[in-house]
Amino acid sequence: MAQRILLLEDEPAIADTLLYTLRNEGFEVTHVRLASEALAAFRAQAPDLAILDVGVPDGNGFDVCRAIRKTSELPIVFLTARSEEIDRVLGLELGADDYVSKPFSPREVCARVRAILRRYANGLSAGSGAAPAATVDSPGALPLRLDEAAQRISCRGELLSLTRYEYLLLAALLKRPQRIFSRTELMSLVWADAPDTADRTVDSHVKLLRAKLREAGASAELIQTHRNMGYSLTLSV
Ligand code: CA
Repeated sequence: MAQRILLLEDEPAIADTLLYTLRNEGFEVTHVRLASEALAAFRAQAPDLAILDVGVPDGNGFDVCRAIRKTSELPIVFLTARSEEIDRVLGLELGADDYVSKPFSPREVCARVRAILRRYANGLSAGSGAAPAATVDSPGALPLRLDEAAQRISCRGELLSLTRYEYLLLAALLKRPQRIFSRTELMSLVWADAPDTADRTVDSHVKLLRAKLREAGASAELIQTHRNMGYSLTLSV
């Protein structure tokens, strides 16, 4: 049975190429141009996945996402045109699964959609209480995977929702596991564009990262504190 996708996009040229490619790939696509239409279509028949443009004439994709999330966990992919929007998608508690920034290739969108649907299908068939899948990227070691090109980090296959500085901090530690970074080093690596940042900003971000790692099913002790020295990412938890 064809998987159903709800596509919210008000620009005809973008909508047309996406519709063409997704339908060619065997998806059943409902295309709408307004936020109100997206919600009506969602309520009429919940799709398997929603692709939401951020800026639409009668509102925005974020509000549509929030409304959907009140009743559904279906995967949501954002189409974003600006980097500030990407920050919101990744940084806020929107519950989005992925984003694609414009301009994009329809093939890229298709690939993301397939990957997300596969991930959801695997998650369901694994059942609750199943052991988390072992990572393929760093066997026997870290459950974290750094994707520098996309500026994202995933934990056991799930994308971590990180702010820019959280991403930069974890990426810096992740690139050199076991190495101890002093606060000063981390300040210059991560907060290079904000030289007035206070030392304790590093500590507060480490605290936030630990909470997110714990939430993602990893140990908060992945990031170790070395008294009077700094922080490191350990391989031994
Ligand atoms: Ca738009």
